[in-house]
Amino acid sequence: MKNNCLFCAIAAGEIPSTKVYEDDEVLAFLDINPASEGHTLVIPKVHSEGLLDTDDEVLKALVLKVKKIAAEVKTKYNADGFNILQNNGEASGQTVKHIHFHIIPRYDGKPLKFLP
Ligand code: 5GP
Ligand code: ZN
Repeated sequence: MKNNCLFCAIAAGEIPSTKVYEDDEVLAFLDINPASEGHTLVIPKVHSEGLLDTDDEVLKALVLKVKKIAAEVKTKYNADGFNILQNNGEASGQTVKHIHFHIIPRYDGKPLKFLP
């Protein structure tokens, strides 16, 4: 597996995913265990573990892509709102150590519990 990292392997196409958006820097794909319909993960193709070790230029581009993709996801799934979630470290619930932003569409009348 590329870099011994699940999301590097997904970015390299070694492991299949349902793609939502892709360009040279970023990949967005559906979460395999969605918290709501349309739950999307956005990753940079270059590996870093979390917010603090991500290169500033990579992070700037990533956050702007999160904004663009969130708008598209909200429209596509006719969501009423959305949450952005980005976990850092096992104590936060991070299970995959390749930085990722969750876009979690929210629907009126459908509460969610997603922070254990
Ligand atoms: P974390 O808890 O690290 O912030 O989130 C990792 C997310 O990756 C989880 O929501 C989990 O469902 C998702 N995930 C784990 N393995 C895979 C996989 O192989 N494919 C996809 N599409 N999502 C995955
Ligand atoms: Zn990685």
